[in-house]
Amino acid sequence: MNVLVLGAGQLARMMSLAGAPLNIETNAFDVISQKVVHPLTQSVVNNDLEDAISRADVITAEFEHIPHDILTLCEKSGKFLPNTDAIKAGGDRRLEKTLLDSANVKNAKHYVIHTRQDFDEAIQYVGLPMVLKSALGGYDGKGQWRLKSMDDVDAVWCEMDQCIQASSGQAIVAEEFVPFDREVSLVGARGKNGEVVVYPLAENIHVNGVLSLSTAIEDRALQAQAKEMFTAVANSLNYTGVLALEFFDVKGTLLVNEIAPRVHNSGHWTQQGAETCQFENHLRAVCGLPLGSTTLIRPTCMINILGEDTLPDTILSTEGCHVHWYGKTKRPGRKMGHINVCAKSTSELQHLMCSLAEILDKNAYPAIHEYANKWQ
Ligand code: ATP
Ligand code: MG
Repeated sequence: MNVLVLGAGQLARMMSLAGAPLNIETNAFDVISQKVVHPLTQSVVNNDLEDAISRADVITAEFEHIPHDILTLCEKSGKFLPNTDAIKAGGDRRLEKTLLDSANVKNAKHYVIHTRQDFDEAIQYVGLPMVLKSALGGYDGKGQWRLKSMDDVDAVWCEMDQCIQASSGQAIVAEEFVPFDREVSLVGARGKNGEVVVYPLAENIHVNGVLSLSTAIEDRALQAQAKEMFTAVANSLNYTGVLALEFFDVKGTLLVNEIAPRVHNSGHWTQQGAETCQFENHLRAVCGLPLGSTTLIRPTCMINILGEDTLPDTILSTEGCHVHWYGKTKRPGRKMGHINVCAKSTSELQHLMCSLAEILDKNAYPAIHEYANKWQ
């Protein structure tokens, strides 16, 4: 099987690594250079996207912000999975909200803003405090505003208006501020035959809007709620592949924050913590192969490596630590890699995380230090 992935970042890289044992060959289309590259070496394998499309058995995507003309080209080939509607919904918060509402899936009260009058109506409808998010192009907390007081309305409008004017088709989605207890996400896969499998939920800690720690958790009641919502969204999209849902947990009730029509950062723990990792299951799904078991094989936590390109040697020599670098050039805050930390029991995992907090720098890994303070 030959799979062409739209996007040539770490997710395509990890798909490639997971596909090799199954004889699934992957190539990646870099939307910036417009070239097809090898997902590990980044060397150019084809300058012609149309040729790469005709050579591929299956086309899929590692991210949702793909130019629509490229999506159309891929869709025309009849080989593109999950499907263009799913990718567009993941890349436009207006479509995402419409999808969630039509699938009857709980999400935060929201209102779409194009003009100052819409903003005033949003304030009436949603109430303060509110979170405002650009409809297009937002990720890792970028393109967001918080409005807590009416005193700040003019200043916030000024910035939002600039954002709306800067790109055609842009709008802002106002959301009620959700006083969540924690954030969790569910990664799962839907096969071509409609079969749905999901991994255990992950509890996620974000720092400055970016995922920092993700831990697989076992909570039967939450898991059942999450799986029901996952199935509703996946079925309504007639989805094929791995899909992720991010949730707010408000006193045991889940609200969907957003969807990601792809493998997801909060599912990286599955590489060491689950019977089949998310990357392999995505490839299995889009290639029409049976889905692999999503069973948790041992307690696991994922630590994102942000803006750092080295780690203390002790990490590699610590039992239970698995390092995954993405081969990227260092930039402040950039996702450079992750560490999967595994243990035989939850208490052993907590103990191991606390000892890692002593090794990893507090400025680069603030969430582990918070974690250690909580459990020590
Ligand atoms: P991602 O990189 O996950 O795609 P993003 O930039 O698209 O992130 P969101 O996930 O929507 O943005 O928001 C980033 C973070 O901001 C959330 O993880 C959550 O901590 C906080 N947040 C977002 N929306 C709300 C809300 N309505 N109420 C409270 N907090 C929120
Ligand atoms: Mg998010």
